[in-house]
Amino acid sequence: MKILGVASIIIFLLSSCKNKSGQEMHSAFLTIDSHIDIPIKLTNDSTYNLEEDNSLLADGSRTDFPRMDKGGLDAAFFIVWTAQHECDSIGIQRANDKAHEIIATIKSRINSSPSFAQLAFSSDDIIKINDSKRHPILIGMENGYPIGKDISQVEHFYNLGIRYLTLCHTKNNDICCSSTDESEDKGLTNFGIEVVHELNRLGIIIDVSHISDSAFYQVIKYSKAPVVATHSNCRALCSHPRNMTDDMIKLLAKNGGIIDINFVDEYLRTPEPNAARDSAVSIIKNKYSNPKISDKEKDELSMEWDAIHTKFPSKHATISDVIDHIDYVVKLVGIDYVGIGSDFDGGGRVAGLNDVSEMGNLTNELLKRGYSEKDIEKIWSGNFMRVFREVENISHEIKN
Ligand SMILES: [Zn+2]
Repeated sequence: MKILGVASIIIFLLSSCKNKSGQEMHSAFLTIDSHIDIPIKLTNDSTYNLEEDNSLLADGSRTDFPRMDKGGLDAAFFIVWTAQHECDSIGIQRANDKAHEIIATIKSRINSSPSFAQLAFSSDDIIKINDSKRHPILIGMENGYPIGKDISQVEHFYNLGIRYLTLCHTKNNDICCSSTDESEDKGLTNFGIEVVHELNRLGIIIDVSHISDSAFYQVIKYSKAPVVATHSNCRALCSHPRNMTDDMIKLLAKNGGIIDINFVDEYLRTPEPNAARDSAVSIIKNKYSNPKISDKEKDELSMEWDAIHTKFPSKHATISDVIDHIDYVVKLVGIDYVGIGSDFDGGGRVAGLNDVSEMGNLTNELLKRGYSEKDIEKIWSGNFMRVFREVENISHEIKN
């Protein structure tokens, strides 16, 4: 009788383990999104309330705390993005001022929602804040343009809370060449090499998304710490210069780094030609590349961009494409080198992953594709935390 009792308990435990739903699993994981652009909205619209579910406003926003709760998204990097203009003192000063404004906005918004979230500055902070049932929010800087050629600015931004730096954006800057600039790819500048060393010393993660292929290879050569592509995809599946080749992904993994898969349609699936859509897209791109464009106009263009992709739904990538890119990385280099960087509020969204409230769908889809609970946990945070800790440890070693 007693033996039967133990046996039935074991059977019960095994079956309850086996029957753990995707939802249950998802809420148990620490989940991290390494790239969310909501600060663009926060800076331009002081009325936008992160504590409310804004989905009903139909304003195209994709991030707030109630929706993060609904989607089981725990932690996120909020991004300080500055557009690339001239690399002269006026342009750099303007970008530097803008970066300060965005950082101040992120801090004031997070600090005024203490029951929902807290700013995190280390891997330990992420765990502590998450354990307190609030969202750890970290700050990443997309584009090293505000640094100009002043190396002391790297530490200055570290002190303000920046924990990763995307070396450039869509155009070349004083640090390196961009994957989408039309001029010759010269990789990292000498100043860029200095920046890589300084980022290693301070414990700031180097983000290789957006940078040119040559710049990537040089970063790998000079960086003592593993690096992250915080929002990039596989070029083998979608031929875009912004995406990474197999060779780059292999080297990234060999160096211990990870590629966090991006939800931007254009980087997920090469659309079949459609003259009407292609011309509408190219008009928006032309307007966007105008250096004189205001933030308000950028917001409007981002809405237009969404509208175009709604108008041509058959061309839209879906959550299945996102999983295809994850799958591709896993088959190429293994489960330890992939993560999630949605690019929500910066162009990221696909059917099935329209905003942070739908993040749970990713876990369900990964389960359907045969991924184990342990594997999915690595994708959601295990891999990112390993890299972050390694970056922190290497900084510690350099400083001591
Ligand atoms: Zn980006």
